[in-house]
Parts: sequence; C-alpha cells; structure tokens
Amino acid sequence: MVTSVSDGKLFLLTGPSGVGKGTLIKTLLSRHPEIWLSISATTRQPRDGEIDARHYYFMSRAEFSELASQGGFLEWAEFAGNFYGTPSKEVRERLSSGRPVLLEIELEGARQVRGSFPEALQIFVAPPSFEELERRIRGRATDSEEAIAQRLFRANEELSSQNEFDAIVINDDLQRAIEEIERLIGLVN
Ligand code: ADP
Ligand code: 5GP
Repeated sequence: MVTSVSDGKLFLLTGPSGVGKGTLIKTLLSRHPEIWLSISATTRQPRDGEIDARHYYFMSRAEFSELASQGGFLEWAEFAGNFYGTPSKEVRERLSSGRPVLLEIELEGARQVRGSFPEALQIFVAPPSFEELERRIRGRATDSEEAIAQRLFRANEELSSQNEFDAIVINDDLQRAIEEIERLIGLVN
C-alpha cells in the first residue's frame, strides 16, 4: 500500500540559521529512530567534520543544475549564495514505506512544499530574541564573517514569515522545545 502524505507523515522544520534546528533534530532522531531525515543536496563547501551523503550530498553547481533540470528535487532554493534542494526519490520511497519523513529546509523551499504537499506539517523554529540568534551563530564558529552577515540578513525575512507556518516553536530551553515538537508531530500525548 502506498502511504500518502495525507496520512500526515511528512514534517518540515524551518527557521533562521543558528536557531538550533540541527541540535533539535539530532536529539529528536536519537529519541525516535523511526523518523527518516531527508539528506539534502547543496553546492556549499563542507564544513569541518561534515561528511558527503551523511550531512549533505555535496555537489558542484553543474551537478545540481542537472538534477534540477531532470525534476529530481521536491523543492530547491538559493540560500546565502548556494543552492540547496531535497532529492525527491528517497523522500517518496520512505513515505511509501510508511516512515515519518522530516525535512529541514529554508523558507523558499518550505513555501514550495506547501504547494506540492499541503498536508505536510510545517513547524517554524524561532529564537528567543535576535540577539540570542546572533550569539548562537557566532558561538557555533563554523561560518565566515561574510556568511554570518548573509545569514543574519536572511534571518530577518525568515522571522517575519513565521505566521505562515502551522506552528511556531521557540527554541529557548532545548528540552522544552523538543517536547513541544514531539507533541506537535504526535510522538507523545
Ligand atoms: P541551525 O541548525 O538552526 O543552524 P544549530 O543546531 O547549528 O543551528 O545551533 C546553533 C548553535 O546554537 C549551536 O552552537 C548550538 O549548540 C546552539 N543551541 C541550539 N539550541 C540551543 C538552545 N536551546 N539554547 C542554547 N544554545 C542552543
Ligand atoms: P547550512 O548551510 O547552515 O547547512 O544551511 C543553510 C540553510 O539551508 C538552512 O536554513 C537549512 O535549513 C537550509 N536547507 C538545508 N537543506 C535544504 C534543502 O534541501 N532545501 C532548502 N530549500 N533549504 C535547505
């Protein structure tokens, strides 16, 4: 039997860079190994410690464009000078096998998914304040000053879009935020 998205198995997290999406997802996956996290493709350079086909499929712009032109992405967008996209094949396969699928993508991609998968639950992760967001991006110490500036600029646009989402979770206390996400996606009562 093909499990459709209307069964409520596609979930999406969006939020400004540095808000803590990766941290939340790591904990969520360790508590709920049945969730399958989609691995995105990107043209950005790997950060220290990032592994191809595990954190991202790292691609050249030519490879990315080729896959996009073949209709291989569920959605894709440009973010801070690089392309990012969700390869559709694996997502559709996992949904068909009945697994909950989680996407972690930026605003433009979330808007595309809203068009193609209106039943997907879209959660926006917000910071307690803009100052705290900047502290977290800088504290992570993975990005250049230019990349940080681009991400903070984009964060303003993302934060003003939060009311488009099905739910807003403020990542103040990590544990509390995880529990709220678990309730939203129906993993606990
Ligand atoms: P994103 O994936 O949204 O870009 P990360 O998960 O990389 O963000 O988190 C950015 C930084 O913020 C990391 O250093 C992380 O440890 C920290 N962080 C995440 N959640 C919290 C939280 N609730 N309180 C304080 N720091 C946090
Ligand atoms: P980073 O470079 O920090 O890993 O990611 C930058 C932004 O790209 C984040 O907001 C992240 O959610 C977003 N992103 C990651 N993968 C995808 C994807 O497949 N599609 C889209 N649209 N955005 C993505």
